[in-house]
Amino acid sequence: MTLSIMTLAGTETTLDHQTLEDFRNAISGDVLTEADEGYPEALILHNGMIDRRPALAVRCRGAADVIDAVKLASDHNLLVAVKGGGHGVAGNALCDRGLLIDLSLMRAVQVDPAGRTARVQGGALLRDLDRETQAFGLVTPAGVVSETGVAGLTLGGGLGWVRAKYGLTVDNMLSVDIVTADGQFRRASETENEDLFWALRGGGGNFGVVTSFEFQLHPLGPIVMFCSPMYAIAQAKEVLRVWRDFMAVAPDDFSTEFFFWTIPDHPDFPAELAGQKVVIPAGVYAGPADEGERFVRPLREIGTPLLDLSGARPFTEIQQTFDPYVPKGMLNYWKALYLDSMNEDVMDALVAAFEDQPVTANRCPLVLQALGGASSRVADDATAFGDRSRPYMIELNSSWTYPEDSEYNIGWTRQVFADLQQRFSRGGGYLNMSCYDEDGEVFIKDTFGPTWGRLREIKKKYDPANLFRMNYNILPAE
Ligand SMILES: Cc1cc2nc3c(=O)[nH]c(=O)nc-3n(C[C@H](O)[C@H](O)[C@H](O)COP(=O)(O)OP(=O)(O)OC[C@H]3O[C@@H](n4cnc5c(N)ncnc54)[C@H](O)[C@@H]3O)c2cc1C
Repeated sequence: MTLSIMTLAGTETTLDHQTLEDFRNAISGDVLTEADEGYPEALILHNGMIDRRPALAVRCRGAADVIDAVKLASDHNLLVAVKGGGHGVAGNALCDRGLLIDLSLMRAVQVDPAGRTARVQGGALLRDLDRETQAFGLVTPAGVVSETGVAGLTLGGGLGWVRAKYGLTVDNMLSVDIVTADGQFRRASETENEDLFWALRGGGGNFGVVTSFEFQLHPLGPIVMFCSPMYAIAQAKEVLRVWRDFMAVAPDDFSTEFFFWTIPDHPDFPAELAGQKVVIPAGVYAGPADEGERFVRPLREIGTPLLDLSGARPFTEIQQTFDPYVPKGMLNYWKALYLDSMNEDVMDALVAAFEDQPVTANRCPLVLQALGGASSRVADDATAFGDRSRPYMIELNSSWTYPEDSEYNIGWTRQVFADLQQRFSRGGGYLNMSCYDEDGEVFIKDTFGPTWGRLREIKKKYDPANLFRMNYNILPAE
């Protein structure tokens, strides 16, 4: 058998029978073409909008498989996509007609409780990480949905429920094992391949395939206070103002996300509230639960909430709270933008956008993040993530069921984003939550700011041919 497969030049090449046989024989995991059983599973992504079909999918079992897959790609100049947890909304974990390097079988997490570190494989999900670390009352900060992949989230920054106390996920990365474009396995840390380590803390999938991460862990819970009162949209502006002022003086123990949300028609909620638009000043208090209970009370008493899901809970349960409402396969189009302030005009614009939100996109949350605390105290040039001075970030996480609603919802998202960008932002956003392919190089450059030039130099050093380009791409320096 031979295989026609896409190259980086955009033309097809043929892998001959012997090359394919040798490759299949070497790989411990699965090597799949469209005709093989298991191929559809390798292609599952969170975003149901993405329909891309690689010519060859390699489901790796370990670093040796990753090394061989990268060598195959670089020897034959193949278009490559790398898949961790498959949650990237832009869909770059898949490529059309090229080679897919899928790490979803590599999900092991090993905790060293005494040393307070964890080694986490490149295909692990947040729930794998939380399950193992919380068994020892430890945590590393990550995201808020348990099905999200550790790899993509970490390489792009990582914003979650304990970031104000312990920083971004990248701030807790101690070392990375990675296969670079030349097929070399390398360790990157503060003392080895330091330039690569710096670039991996925010520079995304541009520099190779990460086979494992080592993280710093911190004590947490396991029971912590979760704040989640839901107020009617009529109170939106008042609740937003109280939340902003509350957060201005909040200690690092409290990390928050302010949701503009529509209560779904779901057994978890009273049927009479289905379809109601609400605002939720949500958060987690990363200290003693009783202290947290007292601390969040003012956010739960801004008038009378329609519903209040607050309470002291196991952290692992909080991490899975949103899972049922963001199921795999829904259609998604997301954008995320840094906002310079939260004055009356910004608040009016956000509330107006929410009121105007299409009824068909009934699972379309706007999520506002207050970005202070430990994550804002890291020097801009300490990691590739760059500028830490942005006080707020708004996510437009449009998500719907029926393809006939796509045009309207995408148009709505673009229009709200453009309006907010023009009026309230000096540019840039969180690339992990953007459909950045269309935002282009200027947006990526604005996001990185002062780290952009150095990132391009490091890209040139480790991936001069831009083998890893299915990502928010950093072009090698000229
Ligand atoms: C429902 C949902 C909730 C989310 N919540 C949060 C949140 O709370 N906080 C937050 O910060 N982000 C959040 N995100 C965004 C998330 O960080 C990104 O979607 C991220 O890309 C997910 O990583 P992944 O491994 O699952 O993605 P994938 O789609 O598998 O990969 C995305 C990209 O990451 C790179 N990549 C993946 N694995 C590897 C690897 N092993 N080595 C090298 N490169 C790799 C590749 O470039 C790939 O194209 C959320 C996304 C969704 C859909």
